[in-house]
Amino acid sequence: MTGQVRVPDQIHVGERLHALQQEILVGIALGDSLENVLTTFCLGVEALAPGVICSISGVDDERLTFIAGPSVPDSYAREIEGVRVGPTVGSCGTAIYLRRAVEVRDIEKDPLWAPYKSHALPFDLQACWSCPIEAADGRVLGAFAFYFREKRGVNLFERQIAGECVKFCAMAIENSEARKRLNNLAFFDPLTGLGNRVTLKNRLGIILQRASEMRRAVAVYHIDISEFRAINDLHGRVVGDMALIKVAQVLRSVALDCDLIVRMGGDEFVVVKTKASDDSDSKQFAEAIVSGLRGRYRVERGEEFMIDVRAGVASFPQDGEDQDELLERAEMALLRAKRNGARFALFEPQMEYERRQRRSLERDVGLAVERQELSLVFQPQVDAKTGSVTAFEVLVRWAHPDAGLISPDRFIPVAEANGAIHEIGEFVLREACREAAQWREKFRVAINVSAAQIMRSDFVQLVTDVLAETGLEPSRLEIEVTESLFIQDLAAASSILRRLKRLGVSVAMDDFGTGYSSLSTLRAFPFDRIKVDRSFVRDMINNSDAAAIVNSVIGLGRAMGLCVVAEGVESQEQLAMLRLIGCDEIQGYLFGKPLPAESYADITGPQVVFNDIHDKHSATL
Ligand code: C2E
Ligand code: CA
Ligand code: CA
Repeated sequence: MTGQVRVPDQIHVGERLHALQQEILVGIALGDSLENVLTTFCLGVEALAPGVICSISGVDDERLTFIAGPSVPDSYAREIEGVRVGPTVGSCGTAIYLRRAVEVRDIEKDPLWAPYKSHALPFDLQACWSCPIEAADGRVLGAFAFYFREKRGVNLFERQIAGECVKFCAMAIENSEARKRLNNLAFFDPLTGLGNRVTLKNRLGIILQRASEMRRAVAVYHIDISEFRAINDLHGRVVGDMALIKVAQVLRSVALDCDLIVRMGGDEFVVVKTKASDDSDSKQFAEAIVSGLRGRYRVERGEEFMIDVRAGVASFPQDGEDQDELLERAEMALLRAKRNGARFALFEPQMEYERRQRRSLERDVGLAVERQELSLVFQPQVDAKTGSVTAFEVLVRWAHPDAGLISPDRFIPVAEANGAIHEIGEFVLREACREAAQWREKFRVAINVSAAQIMRSDFVQLVTDVLAETGLEPSRLEIEVTESLFIQDLAAASSILRRLKRLGVSVAMDDFGTGYSSLSTLRAFPFDRIKVDRSFVRDMINNSDAAAIVNSVIGLGRAMGLCVVAEGVESQEQLAMLRLIGCDEIQGYLFGKPLPAESYADITGPQVVFNDIHDKHSATL
């Protein structure tokens, strides 16, 4: 052992170290890999301190990882990779374990090296000084080591260099960790651990490219949880999050052989299956996804919730050439499934046309009021016992210049989605009140009001103003609402309805029996009337379940002192049955179709007999 290490000029070294650090900083800033950055660093340090062999190791879960050491023989590097750190694990493993520098002047004799020296000595690594690399928060990130080909310790100069180096290594490793975390955030959904939109975008393109080279099909499934908002609203966000995690778990198990499962955000997921074959395969797999996910789940705290999903499928290459097209079309198919109440739907070219139509509908519905394309029709409600007209329900009609008459079932949801409903609703309210105020008989007038409209802060004021402006007695106005109004904020909704009732306006629950919380909504607010949905009335003659529902609703209404109206009454048979079970009021084509106000101008007296109206309007049936 000589100890004759040449000590270069200190100032010169300081400058070169500084230059080296600058170079490394640029590498880090440019996103160079940790291995590359630290390899360059080691080479630079070795050039500065002749006679040292520099290595940098990291630690992962208590085990050594070899990060850089360009002059350390590869086979030696492989040997130390994965060795568990401990009190007698060479220089680096021990330095990390003890959190302090460890000097081994003679690898051959030192007990710390006993199990490892056989890997080092053949390469003439005789001594090793190692020092822990610590993060700002005190965590040990790894070890910085100098190996020597002679049996000796580290000198003051080398120790000074090492002191600078360790700080630098800490920064580089921490930066790389942060970059990994950012990467994870950028590519993965933290809640479910699935890939996200970015991952989908990155991977799907490659998958399609490969599929096209190999002439293989790829199926893209767009999956959406039905009524997810209701899960959030009814059970809270924590349960909502659980539901998403559950869905991700089940998806992983159902889509085992799929190449990509991502959460698109919210309650939407996409699964990409490359080993897809034909439509029947797609159907089978869609069915497997939907039935795998559908069901009742329970979270730890004991709350139960239902999950139901729908899926839309588009296949490469038949339904789309590139990823954007495929994703768009899978979503279109999903929309179709939702609209049809189906479990899933496969893309069809027809959907493209429908979407274009919907787009123009969206655009035009906002202009309908201004262009005076809306009009109102009126449908009578009659007393089931006496047959006299008690009220008219107002239904809006839209005469589109190109598309002709568009049904409210089609355009109201569009108007609700884009906000046009407020203008439309105000028009209906004002026109209906204006019309009713002119009637000779004081029939009630019932209008349908969307949830969004009611929840707007100025709705009660609007009703007050319109009543004042048109002179209609408040008791003659009835507002029909559906259960959807209560889903989001039951307390707020019932508070608004109470304010309306204080004005003297009455409130009816429409489409009763179709929602999923009918009874709780009935308890939440004192309705004046419930309207049994026309689907039950339609089925009551042939379907005993439907008949039982009508029967129990009428019983319930009676028990609660409410008036029960049956909608959609078309036949004498239905009428007879409804009268038998004690329905209070009747509405339907049997008595009168929804028609412009002029058509009913002749109904003046309260005592209009069934057959009268029936005969008069049966021509229009
Ligand atoms: P709704 O409130 O349940 O209205 C009753 C619907 O049943 C009307 O359809 C009416 O034409 C139809 N109908 C009445 N009697 C019979 C019958 O005997 N048999 C059959 N098969 N159908 C009958 P319409 O006019 O197409 O309205 C559909 C829905 O659009 C309404 O359902 C209501 O939810 C909504 N809507 C209509 N006008 C407005 C409005 O001014 N504002 C809002 N927000 N929604 C409206
Ligand atoms: Ca209605
Ligand atoms: Ca209804």
